[in-house]
Amino acid sequence: MGPVSHLVDRYAPSPTSDLHLGNLRTALAGWLLTRSGGGQWVMRIEDLDTARVAAAGAAAQRQLSDLNALGLRWDGELLWQSARRAAYSSAIKQLAERTYECFCTRRDIAEASSAPHDGHRLYPGTCAALNSQQVARRRVERPGAIRVRSEGASFTASDIHAGEVSGVVDDFVLVRADGTPAYNLAVVVDDIFQGVTRITRGADLLSSAPRQAWLTDELGGAPAKYAHIGLVTNTNGDRLAKRDGSVTLADLSARGLAAADVLAMLTESLGMGACRTSQKALEAMPASGLPGRKFWAPAVWDGQRLLSV
Ligand SMILES: [Zn+2]
Repeated sequence: MGPVSHLVDRYAPSPTSDLHLGNLRTALAGWLLTRSGGGQWVMRIEDLDTARVAAAGAAAQRQLSDLNALGLRWDGELLWQSARRAAYSSAIKQLAERTYECFCTRRDIAEASSAPHDGHRLYPGTCAALNSQQVARRRVERPGAIRVRSEGASFTASDIHAGEVSGVVDDFVLVRADGTPAYNLAVVVDDIFQGVTRITRGADLLSSAPRQAWLTDELGGAPAKYAHIGLVTNTNGDRLAKRDGSVTLADLSARGLAAADVLAMLTESLGMGACRTSQKALEAMPASGLPGRKFWAPAVWDGQRLLSV
């Protein structure tokens, strides 16, 4: 062992479907970056969407068993978000002076705001100035969501490959109208709790990094670094999904591809040559500095092969 490492990275799947090649590729990339840096790789199950989680059966168990099949072991106990509701409530209390209720429908927001930016529509602040009588009246019509008052902040997050990523922080939702803690709140509270110092995840989440980094700071957490990994798309350039067929380990196994074959395909698409064990993949990581261009780039699944872009 070299100097003591304080690197903690995490993988945080939502058990709403089986992991597909894109999810597995990101998990592998995060595991490699973490293990090659002597860090800990912790696991969190993001199971707050109880209806979708129930509809997917025992997806969490299948996800974990697929990660194991690729040789990706995690450190410590699993953290289930469904067991963390008290922590999210306590964060809301901590921010209480800075929150307000919002009664807007999706449509209200679409009509009042500019076009979505990277999938996120900036909230125009419609409900920020409601007084207590107005709030009481609106509550009768529909339950309110809880938003944070960002005061038009902008914030910069740091990505080990993309560099500085700055963005405007709007009054985003912390708790949804149905009482479910919102994604942006839960991940930040849990990353602080798990001592996460780097967040490796799919590039689709890059635009939410400034917002989450800002909330981390507001809650007194230390800033984490990010590592956003290119997505796997189908040949039309759409993000890979179940409908593309043959995208999970179970699908591929039915076609005669063992987990080791899939691992080799993934490591090759990350620019490391075809490694049939995770240990070999780890040895293929550069001893110092960051891996090469293909590691960060998106890849295309053509139904047979994983092609680098
Ligand atoms: Zn509103």
